[in-house]
Amino acid sequence: MSIKVTSVSKIYKNQKALNEVSFSADKGQIIGFLGPNGAGKSTMMKILTGFIKPNSGEVFVDEIDVLKNPLEAQKIIGYLPEHNPLYTDMFVREYLQFQASIYKVDKSEIEACIEKVGLTEEAHKKINQLSKGYQQRVGLAAAILHNPKVLILDEPTTGLDPNQIVEIRELIKSLGKEKTVLFSTHIMQEVEAVCDRVIIIKKGEILIDKKLSELKENNQQVIEVTFDSKIEEQFVNSLPNVISYKNNYENTWYITFESTEDMRPKIFDFAQENGLKILSLNTQNKNLETLFREVTV
Ligand code: ADP
Repeated sequence: MSIKVTSVSKIYKNQKALNEVSFSADKGQIIGFLGPNGAGKSTMMKILTGFIKPNSGEVFVDEIDVLKNPLEAQKIIGYLPEHNPLYTDMFVREYLQFQASIYKVDKSEIEACIEKVGLTEEAHKKINQLSKGYQQRVGLAAAILHNPKVLILDEPTTGLDPNQIVEIRELIKSLGKEKTVLFSTHIMQEVEAVCDRVIIIKKGEILIDKKLSELKENNQQVIEVTFDSKIEEQFVNSLPNVISYKNNYENTWYITFESTEDMRPKIFDFAQENGLKILSLNTQNKNLETLFREVTV
């Protein structure tokens, strides 16, 4: 097992950030770590990388007890923290040499790393002369310099333009071929494009932990319907095959069905039987975006 987290809880003063969180990851998996702001993602990542301690629980990375031996664990973990803290007055190579000396990595590794993250053309510049996308590559280069088995990336694509996002995603994907990668993001398409597995966390608790393929294979339909007048929720619940529903705003409902049959005609019948008019009706594929909204809103 590459990562094994068992019953981790973290309380900051009186703010509970993580509540009995457990998950594990095999080698070579890319895991998307999702959740609204404040869900506890960064806290979990800081604990996994040995930078802060939980109040209780256990964390192992590649069989090393991170809480007992954080320095040992950090030798096999690459970490790109949120906001990518870099010494921006340094030149790219100078910064990577500095990082290499911290990790006691042979300087000959630096050029290979620069090439791997696609920094060759920019490597002669000062970090503050680089675009945000290239600065992110410097952060990634620093994170992989010591050839870690596990990579923890906290929102690696935040603040990048669409082309940079695609490039960094490709990079994460290629790194994931040889490493276990856990990365947080707010972009659902990113998860669909890059990850093997998805963990959704909210208020410090894991709500979903599934392979992406499992999430895609289901018979759930999500239908967003707006009626012309207000209805009570027990009416919505009386529809066949309803598994969950939400009153999004005013007379708009967001209803999830578990059925192989198209549920739209049933909604029309329901409207007619109850003297309602349908103002709009949209079927949405049950993708990560709808799933995320359903479990976190
Ligand atoms: P996320 O990364 O999902 O946005 P965080 O792990 O940063 O979530 O935060 C989880 C919760 O813990 C939030 O309510 C946040 O305000 C709180 N928190 C995070 N860091 C600290 C801290 N150093 N002191 C007090 N509360 C904190």
